[in-house]
Amino acid sequence: MTAANADKPIITLDNVTRSFGAVQALRGVSAEIREGEFFSLLGPSGCGKTTLLRMIAGFDEPTTGTITLDGKPMAGIAANHRPTNMVFQSYAIFPHLSVGDNVGYGLKKKRLPKAEYDREVEEALEMVSLGGYGPRAAHTLSGGQRQRVALARALIMRPKVILLDEPLSALDKKLREQMQIELRRLQRSVGITFILVTHDQEEALIMSDRIAVMFDGQIAQLDSPEALYRKPNTQRVASFIGVMNFLEAKASGEKGDKISLDIQALGKLDIPASALPAGMKSSEITRVGVRPEMMSIVLEGAKSTGHEIDAEIAESEYYGDMTYYLVSLPGKDEPVTISMRNTAGRAVLEPGSKTRVSFSPESIVVFR
Ligand code: ATP
Repeated sequence: MTAANADKPIITLDNVTRSFGAVQALRGVSAEIREGEFFSLLGPSGCGKTTLLRMIAGFDEPTTGTITLDGKPMAGIAANHRPTNMVFQSYAIFPHLSVGDNVGYGLKKKRLPKAEYDREVEEALEMVSLGGYGPRAAHTLSGGQRQRVALARALIMRPKVILLDEPLSALDKKLREQMQIELRRLQRSVGITFILVTHDQEEALIMSDRIAVMFDGQIAQLDSPEALYRKPNTQRVASFIGVMNFLEAKASGEKGDKISLDIQALGKLDIPASALPAGMKSSEITRVGVRPEMMSIVLEGAKSTGHEIDAEIAESEYYGDMTYYLVSLPGKDEPVTISMRNTAGRAVLEPGSKTRVSFSPESIVVFR
């Protein structure tokens, strides 16, 4: 379930470009960001996500194209006159001020009566689980607490949109995971649109209502986390979001709502016609993909599921809860990756073990 208002865009990006001399950082980005949604810009370093975020914030202007925010074109409108607030990667905390004065910094120019100012600051601190921390010196805070102060400082201004530039990247893994859940919960409860820039695909999947995957200054796919993972449009998106095994494939015919395929190493099988991307003909299929968890290693004595092939374990990587196997299949040079949950009593298979691999035709992804 999403808290987003599906009908109302809060931000419209219309063919936005940005060039820095010969470098084309953005090459025509169009998208609508919905009111109240948690939206992520995800992509590798240099794909243009920070450039786009900075232009929404008003720290930079598009070379061509338009940005509309809450119904108003933003060209020429300075950052401090936009209904946005940015949380920086560095948090930009003032170390010489108290926690409370850091949070209330933006309120100062409103010249509120002291009691009202104090109440607003305390409310913002409570939202980020730092109630009572107001008098503390900011430089005594931990990394996670600084991150919360930066967030409270944005929230207190009641912006329509909060922009977050890799806000969790400085935190260690455990704390980052905890903050991801907290940030998501907070966004749901305040209902403000959040736009997150991240290069961490897991973070984007956990937190977002929708994700724009960007490569080379363009949006490659804009979808919900589940749609991106299950139905990536291209091999590049599929490899960026998790792991995918790629296999050559050719269609040999169609029967009702099934397509008959001949897939490298997996053999002949029927897949649902719904797996075909919109507007594509089955005769155009050249490659398919299968996620590692959609294949499994058949355990001794297990009943056959119908789609099984002979295989040999090439390598195993043990992760505690999971084991990732590199598995050689006849007819394919590169081994495929298969992940298996380490349930009670299941031994990790040694390299060289002969086994069988099963898979479901429903899990096969077709690429353009
Ligand atoms: P990262 O995750 O590393 O921050 P990013 O996806 O946010 O990467 P951007 O910072 O938006 O990428 O940069 C996109 C491209 O534009 C890069 O090639 C970068 O070198 C270039 N670029 C960004 N800002 C400037 C600038 N002020 N002057 C010149 N080139 C710039």
